[in-house]
Amino acid sequence: MSLAFYPGSPPDTPRLLERFLPPLAEGVAAYYLQRFSRPGDLILDPFGTSPSLALEALGLDRRVLVTGFNPVMRLALSLAVRPPAIADLRLALTRLGDVTIGRVASDRLERSILALYQTRCAECEAVVTADYFDWDAEQGEPVEKGYVCHTCGGPRHAPTDAADREAARRYTRNGPDYHYLLGRVAVVNDPDRADAEEALQVYPARTLTAIGSILVKLEGLDLDRDSDRLLAGPLIAAFDLATSLAQDRPRVLSVPRRYREVNFWLALERGLGLVAGLPLPDRSLPLDALLAQRRGPAILAYTGPVRDLAARLPAGACQLMISALPRPNQAFWTLSALWTAWLWGPAAAEPLRAVLRRRRYDWHWHARALERTLTAVQPALAPAGHFISLIAEAEPGFTAAVMAGAASAGMRLAATALRADTAEVQADWLSPPGPAAGDILSPAELTARALAAMQTALRVRGEPSRWAALHWAASAALSGRVPTEDEDGLPPSLRAIEAAAQSGTLTRLGAAAGDDLSTGLWWLAEAAQAQAPLADQVEAEVLRLLSGGAPVAQRDLLPAVYAAFPGAQTPGQGLVLACLASYAQRVDDGFWQLRPEDAAGARAADLQATFTQLQGLAVRLGLTVAGDNGQWWLDAGRPLYAFAVQPTAALAAVLLGPPPTAERQRCLVLPGGRVTLAEYKLRRDPRLRAAFQTGGWSIIKYRHVRRMAADAAVTRATLEAALAGDPVQAEAAQQLALPE
Ligand SMILES: [Zn+2]
Repeated sequence: MSLAFYPGSPPDTPRLLERFLPPLAEGVAAYYLQRFSRPGDLILDPFGTSPSLALEALGLDRRVLVTGFNPVMRLALSLAVRPPAIADLRLALTRLGDVTIGRVASDRLERSILALYQTRCAECEAVVTADYFDWDAEQGEPVEKGYVCHTCGGPRHAPTDAADREAARRYTRNGPDYHYLLGRVAVVNDPDRADAEEALQVYPARTLTAIGSILVKLEGLDLDRDSDRLLAGPLIAAFDLATSLAQDRPRVLSVPRRYREVNFWLALERGLGLVAGLPLPDRSLPLDALLAQRRGPAILAYTGPVRDLAARLPAGACQLMISALPRPNQAFWTLSALWTAWLWGPAAAEPLRAVLRRRRYDWHWHARALERTLTAVQPALAPAGHFISLIAEAEPGFTAAVMAGAASAGMRLAATALRADTAEVQADWLSPPGPAAGDILSPAELTARALAAMQTALRVRGEPSRWAALHWAASAALSGRVPTEDEDGLPPSLRAIEAAAQSGTLTRLGAAAGDDLSTGLWWLAEAAQAQAPLADQVEAEVLRLLSGGAPVAQRDLLPAVYAAFPGAQTPGQGLVLACLASYAQRVDDGFWQLRPEDAAGARAADLQATFTQLQGLAVRLGLTVAGDNGQWWLDAGRPLYAFAVQPTAALAAVLLGPPPTAERQRCLVLPGGRVTLAEYKLRRDPRLRAAFQTGGWSIIKYRHVRRMAADAAVTRATLEAALAGDPVQAEAAQQLALPE
């Protein structure tokens, strides 16, 4: 059941519609494609939510079949696999901007749109075009504006003036442009009209005027398919840039109190950059040709219902299914319905009609939707073929919905991993005939199984963990063993998982009774059988991987760490990077090398020197030294100070055992390079933090010991001040950080 998480690398350029698409790291799809398929194989992406996935498959010479009912996503896919050249895009936009409007030959579309945003410079009163107006929704007017003044410079940000507020009032939601746009989505008397009107609220009225004027002209141009594509891409990008929604991954259509009204023509120009790329040959093929040929790269974005496609696919035709799974997004789906109707007419938006009406998507609904699609396409997957599901923003409900939906479609979960700090799940499913999952279980059996999975996860992690990690482990263990639905329509897996959490065999740190299950961290009530803490294990593995001394590429090193800690152990990105930064330095772009002082020989010598210096200092102060490594300083047989000297930040062995007897002070003595990592571990593990504080520990660096040993001014009287003189303070330990 344990999958080695594949981290990939963050995308380096902004992507079209990025804030709505699954944030899939680069190279993840390619990794699984190479692992489970060969060049020429037919690959099916049944959800079509990630253009970059198809792009990686094409790059590996696969034949790619992508399905999806959203025309906006289809355009995004088409633009990603065959990006237009920036020069062609500019030319198309210039042509659009040059269209005459009205009766005066010099009146052009671009100029008329820019004129909507005319204002005066707050410094010199020159007439300028605003780049944006910032609105206060409660005041119902623009309060600030941004522009570049061609007379006195900029960019400037200034309060709006009376003329700006007056101009903004001229645009209302009942002009011809507004009704044109509304009518594209829902005609008068249409039952969806009120929903469409509500959806239009995410655009400022002036923006709708701009969009309406452009679309009316666009309709009159009667463009061929390629020119249409050249303008549709930037328009979609601009439709996205121009909403009043909060910028960060919006999921519902709600306008924040402060929002920005952007100059729509400037948004269009910015859109060009999001769409442009290096031109590639058209590799799209009709279905019959795609199925008949045995070579890649080739692609088909299938536009009809998935069921129709499934009926046309020979059984077992696809060697691999892989998808970035969609999560319900009312904002994106509703906007897609609007944009589709605006660009391609109401008929094109028909498949998206239902999303205008439906405002709430619960996880149970989502599980059923995933199940329906997977059930339809699953016969096309080769016997024992794999289905790789990549889940971003993997909150527990989403993960559970995928686990339930895929299992209900007959898929068998072979292996999975969750990286909790970045909320990513990767799961490998097998098509039947895979290994039989076993029988449907009773509620009591489900709870017992969920609990066992949570306990196992905590034991192998060896440290308090997030609710998401427990939930994921239990969801995976229950996958395929759960009845589809119980009497009140709740997914039984969720009920069993919650019952397991409340069974009393798990404890929670950092949460009060009645807190949401996701608050605080979960741990075993009986921790005796737990392995060494994951944080210490990961530190040791990172050191091992670096220990050759040669520079190691981060893109090789991270997967090697994840391979060592698969499944429930999967460490967070933050932990792995903290370990790397502790032991290695960046040498070249993307390469890390062990610090010279952390080479095995240097570390052992440093450790020995620190022991010697501590011992010398004790003798000078008239104290005696006891313990195997000189860890106690005694005065007349009474232990005053205890020192734990170690080269690593493996704190658990020191802090979780009984604290060494010391009447005055306990000191953790670490190399300087380890201190940040030690503090990081104290922040993420509440057990370590508590032991550190109650034990009265302090951290001092090797270097500080060396200074004290050489400093004749350090005496019995000044020792404690000297020990405290190290700038390292454990204040950081007061702050809470979640583990991975
Ligand atoms: Zn000015």
